[in-house]
Amino acid sequence: MRPSILDPLFAPATTLSGVGPKLGKLLDKLLGDETQGARVIDLLFHLPTGAVDRRPSPSIADAPVGEIATFSARVAEHRPAPAGKAKAPYRVLVEDESGDVTLVFFHADVRHLLLTLPIGEYRIISGKLELWDGMRQMVHPDRIMDAKAFASLPAIEPVYGLTEGIGPRVMTRIAAGAAEKCPDLAEWQDPGFHAKSSFPTFFEAMQALHHPPDLRAVEGDTIARRRVGYDELLASQIALALVRRQQKKAAGRVTAGDGKLRRAIEAALPFSLTNGQREAVADIHADMEKPERMLRLLQGDVGSGKTVVALLAMAAAAEARRQSVMMAPTEILARQHAERLAPLADKAGLRLALLTGREKGAGRRQVLEGLANGEIDIAVGTHALFQEGVVFRDLALAVVDEQHRFGVHQRLLLGSKGEAVDILVMTATPIPRTLSLTWFGDMDISVLSEKPAGRKPIVTRAISSERLDEVVGAVGRAVDAGAQVYWVCPLVQESDTLDVAAAQERYEALRELFGAKVGLLHGQMPGRDKDAAMAAFSAGETRILVSTTVIEVGVDVPNASVMVIEHAERFGLAQLHQLRGRIGRGSAASTCLLLYKGPLGPVAEARLTIMRETEDGFRIAEEDLRLRGEGEVLGTKQSGSPDWRIARPEIDGDLLAAARDDARLLIERDPQLETPRGQAVRTLLYLFERDVAIRLLRAG
Ligand code: ADP
Ligand code: MG
Repeated sequence: MRPSILDPLFAPATTLSGVGPKLGKLLDKLLGDETQGARVIDLLFHLPTGAVDRRPSPSIADAPVGEIATFSARVAEHRPAPAGKAKAPYRVLVEDESGDVTLVFFHADVRHLLLTLPIGEYRIISGKLELWDGMRQMVHPDRIMDAKAFASLPAIEPVYGLTEGIGPRVMTRIAAGAAEKCPDLAEWQDPGFHAKSSFPTFFEAMQALHHPPDLRAVEGDTIARRRVGYDELLASQIALALVRRQQKKAAGRVTAGDGKLRRAIEAALPFSLTNGQREAVADIHADMEKPERMLRLLQGDVGSGKTVVALLAMAAAAEARRQSVMMAPTEILARQHAERLAPLADKAGLRLALLTGREKGAGRRQVLEGLANGEIDIAVGTHALFQEGVVFRDLALAVVDEQHRFGVHQRLLLGSKGEAVDILVMTATPIPRTLSLTWFGDMDISVLSEKPAGRKPIVTRAISSERLDEVVGAVGRAVDAGAQVYWVCPLVQESDTLDVAAAQERYEALRELFGAKVGLLHGQMPGRDKDAAMAAFSAGETRILVSTTVIEVGVDVPNASVMVIEHAERFGLAQLHQLRGRIGRGSAASTCLLLYKGPLGPVAEARLTIMRETEDGFRIAEEDLRLRGEGEVLGTKQSGSPDWRIARPEIDGDLLAAARDDARLLIERDPQLETPRGQAVRTLLYLFERDVAIRLLRAG
């Protein structure tokens, strides 16, 4: 159970004073997700992205032009709009001995201005100072204050990510309210580390972040920000350490085969394995033969040939008369895996079945029976494999393709399907070392660094969307020459429906030109239609496949050698790389056309340049990290990865090793989190919502 001291933070945002249902709705949109509305903690963790400096200049002459300026001045004169010119602004002249400034008000409330700017009095004025015809002026000052009001306001004002309907002042007030609800919590950091780091406490850090004491306090790398970033890293490392410990404790089983099936599969392959594949296979078999559980990450760029490695691992399980599952993130991928693996499995006498949410009725019952009585060696599917009612006779190995949706939670579920299941996670995202640590803790890693022989480099070009006609022409010629083309439509906003509309429209336009050669695939199509579209493209019946990003992961049609990506400027680097990995798999030379709509911002431009320069997934991942650090204005939830609320891998990455060591040591010394520090750590896990790991403690 969550410690009650955290209750105020996990209460809805509407429990903050001044936040009614209407504001609450807007906050839900900004900070909530499909499953829940905005909570106080979401506001607490909604950190300022910058600050406005309202420290006063000594005189008007010293006040910076072109920036926010704050100064004290005497109100000299009110200048109403000339009679008959109702649209002209109302002006107020203020001055000191060094100069004057004209304050400009459109649609002025004159009575109000006479009250707030009485002639002869001094006021502190803050806003953007400009030069107009050589004269200083300020249109609609942000603040007009007397000395008392000025003293009560922070000189450094935090700036928050906003949403329509919530302006800066309101957001600042709400965030301050959230900071006020932050309890002073018992310290969970290691005392020695805490002393050495000179970190503030969590409470102090949150206050400093929302009430920045100086400008530096909001610019990136401050001690308060790092403190909380470290807390988050620590929480995730402790959660991982707990899972890991439990997995180790549940002793593994020895899965050792005689190599017969593996040899049969290798003999049936139309190619020979790369050295990387051989090494990975050897690593995996060695793990499986040990009495501990395997927890291994197989990392290899798109097209590096991970699937075969997985198949050989599953074959080893079958040799030991035990079962395997292979889990894909989408229906399409699961089907494709099953189709590709089936002939090879067949040759080796392995029995393979598909199980997704779409298998129904008698077919489904048959698969479930086969899994329960052991007639099926390999089940390929989606997360439907985890569901209740799916029982295995003797599950030895789970292969998880594409790790992103496979968190701690899923690992625990998987554990319930068989004792001591070995786990192989495959990812095509070349995760830089620092990041793989945060995601996977101390997983063992195998890397496929070389591509299979015979791959040709992909020519990548960036083309303005104004030249769409030329691109369509080139696509037509490529199709005439026998090529197949992926045509990817962009992410329009964050709405599925709009994406689909864009794809639909492009599909219809291309259909007019190329007729039945054009196919369409998007996320909102019924599963059957998706299969049919994919199958038609795979079989070469359609030559151009217009799609949304549903083809992003894993799809494999070797004859596809051209990819057009519309609005490439809207995609992240990792995504572009994943998409492009769908081509360049066959014997023909491949081309990727990145259509962009200008003018390009510096980050988008840098992304396209990198895409043109390299196919090296690791380099792209590093560059991606770098650009994300500098680039995107981070409104709300878009920090480096969806898993992080505060920590910025590109900045706080250096703290990661410390967090990991700390977590390991803690779990070693206090495995049940019972000491005072252990208790504080429990609170930490709840605070960052890593508390699923706490269940493991009770399970003991
Ligand atoms: P990914 O790592 O992206 O999952 P796949 O396993 O889908 O890659 O492999 C991509 C393609 O490369 C497949 O068509 C596969 O048959 C082929 N392939 C795999 N290994 C080799 C190899 N050693 N030599 C040649 N082709 C290979
Ligand atoms: Mg794959």
